[in-house]
Amino acid sequence: MDYISKHRVFSKLFPIPNRWKNVLYIHIPFCLQRCRFCIYFSKVPEGRSEIVNFVNNELGRQIDDYAEILATTLFSELYIGGGTPTIIPPTVLDSALASIPGLDGIAMKAIEASPRTIRREHVDVLAAHRFRYVSIGLQTFNAELLRRENRETADLAALASVIDGLQARGIIVNLDLIAFLATGSMADLAQADSDLRRTIDELAPASITLHSNYNAAKTPEKQLALIRLVRAACERSPAYSCTNSLLLDEDAAEDARCAAEYRLMRQDVRDFGFYLLAKVPQALRFGYNVLALGDYDLFKLRSNFFGVSDFYPPHAQAGVLAAARETEWRLSEVRHSLGLAHAPLSELDEFFTDARGRAAYMTALQTEGFPTPTW
Ligand code: SF4
Repeated sequence: MDYISKHRVFSKLFPIPNRWKNVLYIHIPFCLQRCRFCIYFSKVPEGRSEIVNFVNNELGRQIDDYAEILATTLFSELYIGGGTPTIIPPTVLDSALASIPGLDGIAMKAIEASPRTIRREHVDVLAAHRFRYVSIGLQTFNAELLRRENRETADLAALASVIDGLQARGIIVNLDLIAFLATGSMADLAQADSDLRRTIDELAPASITLHSNYNAAKTPEKQLALIRLVRAACERSPAYSCTNSLLLDEDAAEDARCAAEYRLMRQDVRDFGFYLLAKVPQALRFGYNVLALGDYDLFKLRSNFFGVSDFYPPHAQAGVLAAARETEWRLSEVRHSLGLAHAPLSELDEFFTDARGRAAYMTALQTEGFPTPTW
């Protein structure tokens, strides 16, 4: 199936009116190395030519395929994720961006970066295309821990200079940190505390996202400890605020308990569902209508940042999440009824490419009360 017809198949599976917004997502599947803690889809390229070839040819072809949709749809956001988008040489990134019809009309443009790949020249390109948000994966200052995770270490002086350059041009910089990397236990809290302090004191980004290691079991105790840690950081540094840290103690405990129950219900110790949910348009899960380009096979129409998004209006998050949870639960019933709960993606692709598979899926959806797709 070509890209256009695949897109039509998936969008028609769930003809739910778009309650929120259209989002363009581009997945760049390359990284300097594969970090051990990472759950995202990427590979280490053979060399520069593989990256340039992907961007100019593969991605270029997809942009051409979707030129009409891109030119006529009002997208409110562009998110370039990966992988490591800034592994793309700046001039190549510049041309790729320039080739996207309607790019200028997209109000919120965001991109992910890594400390060792983002350069001054990228800053110029991003500023020229009026990007608003750059998220850089710092993860931890602990070099030994990074080495153990097969992760690049950052040149802090160069990173600070890039952050200054971005912020001077009005671009919001987010730094990602990951807690519980060392042992996955409460013993790692001191490292998280030190990472948070150093990020604020030495790099002062506009935003910090403190993740919990996806490969370590998440317990309410650890989640509450992180909330306490963030609260203390916000008290020390009033320029920062965090909605989680504003929760009352009993609400935070309840929140952590519900999250633990939710994971149990999904039989998933991590935060993300793979399998069929990977194929479900975000419109259904979170009210986003996502067009995804690039190499996103494992990520088709599923991504963390579209979840409890930074971009959601805060008053909408609770309602959207509640609806999403209920929908996920009902979709899991559909998966189970078709024996697809643990099918690998290749099998799912086959299932959906086959008309009988789609028909069976539609019937199961109807049984669960979902609207009937029109083809
Ligand atoms: S650089 Fe980022 S996307 Fe790439 S492997 Fe590491 S954590 Fe994953």
